Amino acid sequence: MQPHVLIVEDEDALSELLQYNLKKEGFRVSVAADGEEALMLVDERQPDVVLLDWMLPKVSGIEVCRRLRSRQETRNLPIIMLTARGEEADRIRGLDTGADDYIIKPFLMKELFARVRAVLRRIRPGLADDKVTVGDIAIDRVAHRVTRNGEDVHLGPTEFRLLDYFMQHPGRVFSREQLLDAVWGSDVYVEARTVDVHVGRLRKALNKHGVNDPIRTVRSAGYALNAD
Ligand code: CA
Repeated sequence: MQPHVLIVEDEDALSELLQYNLKKEGFRVSVAADGEEALMLVDERQPDVVLLDWMLPKVSGIEVCRRLRSRQETRNLPIIMLTARGEEADRIRGLDTGADDYIIKPFLMKELFARVRAVLRRIRPGLADDKVTVGDIAIDRVAHRVTRNGEDVHLGPTEFRLLDYFMQHPGRVFSREQLLDAVWGSDVYVEARTVDVHVGRLRKALNKHGVNDPIRTVRSAGYALNAD
């Protein structure tokens, strides 16, 4: 699965350079030129990591970061700030606001890729590996196999994709619409309650081999896979 990077940058030349290089490196890319657009895009479809310029028109990078951190759905979204300022006070302020990392302009693409991958590995080990374990659940994407407490869990293809997605974002709450987008694709028309049906099946299959229900239903918000 290609990691999805949202670039938030108002300098066209840098934005284009980032798009070109990130695509070449195998990332899926979307772009916003100001803070307001960035927040809108994240609402529509959550990226895996945000590259966020500090100085932006309309809503500043710091403010975007603060808002993303204050919302439950985006609290753990990896954010790397891009800034031309190198002052220590600003760095600390940025990290206080909740950015995961920092890159000072100008930077080498090589350095940027390394930072992006490091943040993804730390926060979303699911993107980097074929085998992922969350709590007592293990998924092997290559062998298409799921186990809980060492016992095979039999899943249909949709339930497998759902679990795979949850396991890339343990603890994060997804709305039905976000799950539809991520698992079924935004070009397919499926009713939101279809998600409930498949989450129900996934839950039933998982709970045959464990005592705790690993999937949390969050009232009027959606579903999450418990992180431990
Ligand atoms: Ca800027």
